[in-house]
Amino acid sequence: DYCKGGYHPVQVGEEYNNGKYTVVRKLGWGHFSTVWLSRDNDTGKHVALKVVRSAAHYTETALDEIKLLNKVVQANIDHPGRKHVVSLLDSFNHKGPHGMHVCMVFEVLGENLLGLIKRWNHRGIPMPLVKQITKQVLLGLDYLHRECGIIHTDLKPENVLIEIGDVEQIVKTYVQEDPNKAKDEHRNGRRRRRTLITGSQPLPSPLNASFSQTDLSSLNKLMAEQGKPVPITGPSPSPSQDVEMSGAAGATSPTKSMKESLGISDEAAQKEREKTASPEVILGAKWGASTDVWSMACMSGTKYGKDDDHIAQVIELLGTFPKSLCVGGKWSQEIFNRKGELRNIHRLRHWALPDVLREKYHFSIEESKRIAEFLLPMLELLPADRANAGGMAGHGFLDGTKGMDGVKLEIEPGTKGEGIDGWATEIKKQR
Ligand code: ATP
Repeated sequence: DYCKGGYHPVQVGEEYNNGKYTVVRKLGWGHFSTVWLSRDNDTGKHVALKVVRSAAHYTETALDEIKLLNKVVQANIDHPGRKHVVSLLDSFNHKGPHGMHVCMVFEVLGENLLGLIKRWNHRGIPMPLVKQITKQVLLGLDYLHRECGIIHTDLKPENVLIEIGDVEQIVKTYVQEDPNKAKDEHRNGRRRRRTLITGSQPLPSPLNASFSQTDLSSLNKLMAEQGKPVPITGPSPSPSQDVEMSGAAGATSPTKSMKESLGISDEAAQKEREKTASPEVILGAKWGASTDVWSMACMSGTKYGKDDDHIAQVIELLGTFPKSLCVGGKWSQEIFNRKGELRNIHRLRHWALPDVLREKYHFSIEESKRIAEFLLPMLELLPADRANAGGMAGHGFLDGTKGMDGVKLEIEPGTKGEGIDGWATEIKKQR
């Protein structure tokens, strides 16, 4: 991978962009890039420097990404969701022994939501925190959909990053709830914090300042993961085009990430994506921005298996599929017969959401009803009927969310695609 067209051999202490950034340590890596904690020598603050592989298709993807990320930065600074979507701070090219590398600079973020879910894996994340993250993700999505014309397409716990001050505060605030777990949390928390947040070097303000925050307001960020978001209106290839491009007949999900369209197989990533994939995406039917709202409602982490198991579980939870979905999608016929019945799975156990919440997750009758009332509008099977993110951010269920007082959009909860282009069907423009 460290060869011509591959990763750039970044060194700690090395300078980038004519001395503006100095590399401090590695933060992580992915198929596209390596990511480095770096110091911005103009401001003294730390940033995340992403150095993309140099081959032409990575460069082109990165340049498309930069266009979308610039839109996110500029679209509407007054929208309350903007600060919950990660900001691109800078971008430039860097020449190295393996070619020219696109570099992107982001604010430094911390642990992802999957990590947080694991910290509480015995009991689930405490409800006040769930509400806070939910509200912030919904606001971020509304910003992407309404103001930027971008569909995320890959919303899942790994792509929701918690800002670093929060992780400290969250552990302090909530770990006392379960004294038996406190020791473990403390141990894990310390280890992870060292890896993910501070490293061996003390970070200057404002990063240290956020450790002393007493609430979690405004700190969680929805990461519009690079390479994943698509514009509602072209020009990058839509997910359904990706499938055609890669010729993957019967591919399980059209929300293939760029890396899959580049032919890089990543079974684990695909499995993760399947957990939050909407019915229209699994069936290859028309889809739009509303698919992100479905994914948002699924992030509580139900495990799904193959496509038809996944669809069967959705039917068990939400009822029979509308005819248009049973027959209309590119892959509908693989899963449903002509009568609209599942081909391979015959015995279904109907278990409605409020009953699941009560019987499986032990919520009270009242609480189960309230949670279901909040989730079900986001789980409407027909994309056109699904509630929009901004409206749901103002739902009564999220009233009193910590740190979010007065954060409000003037959008009625339960409204659908009004005012959002490409809500149920992506709009494509010719390049
Ligand atoms: P892939 O396409 O495989 O997901 P990628 O090359 O696009 O990978 P990312 O997933 O964006 O790269 O980032 C790789 C890793 O770098 C992340 O898992 C995370 O650990 C770390 N990272 C990325 N961005 C940030 C950030 N802003 N702050 C802190 N860490 C980050």
